[in-house]
Amino acid sequence: MNKYYKKFLVDADRVSKDLKHRKTIKFNMSKYDAAVEKGRMRYINIEAARNYVAAKKREALSELDKNLLQFEEKISKRGVEVLWATDSKMAGHLINEIITNHNAKLIVKSKSMTTEEIEFNHRVESIGVESVETDLGEYIVQIAGEKPYHIVTPAMHKSKIDVNELFHEKFDCDINLTAEELTNYVRVKLRKLYQKAEIGVTGANFIISDIGAIAVTENEGNAIMSTSFPKVHIAIAGIEKVIPTMRDLGRFWPVLASHGTGQAVTVYNTIFTGAKKDGENFGPEKMYVILLDNKRTELLKQPVQSDSLACIRCGACLNACPVYRNIGGYTYEATYGGPIGSMISPFYQGFEKSAHLSYACSICGKCTEVCPAKIDIHMLLLHNRNQDVEFHNKNGIFGFIMKSFKRMALNPFLFDIGFNGIKNFFLRTIGKNMFSKHRSLPPLQKSFRKTYKKSL
Ligand code: SF4
Repeated sequence: MNKYYKKFLVDADRVSKDLKHRKTIKFNMSKYDAAVEKGRMRYINIEAARNYVAAKKREALSELDKNLLQFEEKISKRGVEVLWATDSKMAGHLINEIITNHNAKLIVKSKSMTTEEIEFNHRVESIGVESVETDLGEYIVQIAGEKPYHIVTPAMHKSKIDVNELFHEKFDCDINLTAEELTNYVRVKLRKLYQKAEIGVTGANFIISDIGAIAVTENEGNAIMSTSFPKVHIAIAGIEKVIPTMRDLGRFWPVLASHGTGQAVTVYNTIFTGAKKDGENFGPEKMYVILLDNKRTELLKQPVQSDSLACIRCGACLNACPVYRNIGGYTYEATYGGPIGSMISPFYQGFEKSAHLSYACSICGKCTEVCPAKIDIHMLLLHNRNQDVEFHNKNGIFGFIMKSFKRMALNPFLFDIGFNGIKNFFLRTIGKNMFSKHRSLPPLQKSFRKTYKKSL
């Protein structure tokens, strides 16, 4: 067990016993559960919608190179500069260059997990540029000095009282402000920044290959504001976000909304095809798209786990996961938490740092059940475990224990060797530390074979 795994176990133990955290998550998630259930009920045939999304994502990924090049060709013709980043470092260099070329000092940014992945805010702040999150949840975690807790709802771990206390501490706001008053306070603050910022940054929910466009979906209008006032728009997208055609978007948007937040469709949906044209009043004068690889092509090479690239980041698997609901988003120490995060993080962050996340799963299969892209998430996590044992743990102590157990499990006679009293002593002492500190294992009884023989 390496230091990352040890830390994970300590944190998981602590957070799962934190009753305040548990209460907040339970309350916030129950609202999502109810809304998502309602959203799913709106479909006459939800399976058909899921099948469509699943098939189209696989189609897009099977010709990822062709689709991305087509996207580049089409959008470049409208003057958009498409930049390719192999990793976070390269993305950082490209961003710095754009910032320098446009002499920017202030950036307004809409919610984007890809920008979290490359630590966008940290990077630009290190060169003296301010980057302000404009999604309300992201804004809350930013001023709290935290990272997003959840891929769809970044401040899910905070109660209304937590937010009141935070705003009181940071801005001296009245501690009793209502949710509407808090929202309005942020709105007024951000309006001034939209007008002042030189650059607006968004992610991309989808890259539309056939027309060469970026699709962004949001509920607050902050992405539209972030791209309407500043002179420059940078969209940062993971290369797996591609979908084949504009026609497909009509299915992807409602499926994403219904599985993410339970809405029929998200409130604001924008298709960015380029900078503003002559005579247009709103929009940036210059648009860049940064296409980020960051180990995605490595993941694509995996015969089984590559299927995880079909994820549309709806967040449904996080909400469904009993592990996530107990240990919370931060325990994963990864940009993407929950089941899909546990699946992709070992590839994005390295097996050394994140392989243990593949074990943070009870294989209940709830994630797979709810996934609109029909990703067999829990089975992919098992493949990660195989890979981890195969390449990293095969000869360690864990490998030795598992090999011994396998030998014993395949031979029922070996199970019967020794007295139950000795075995129970082992389970109560060493076994208890290995399996669970908080739960006693039931004592071993006489084996089925012996009991059966005796009954004859
Ligand atoms: S793996 Fe499926 S359920 Fe989880 S976030 Fe991705 S699309 Fe949604």
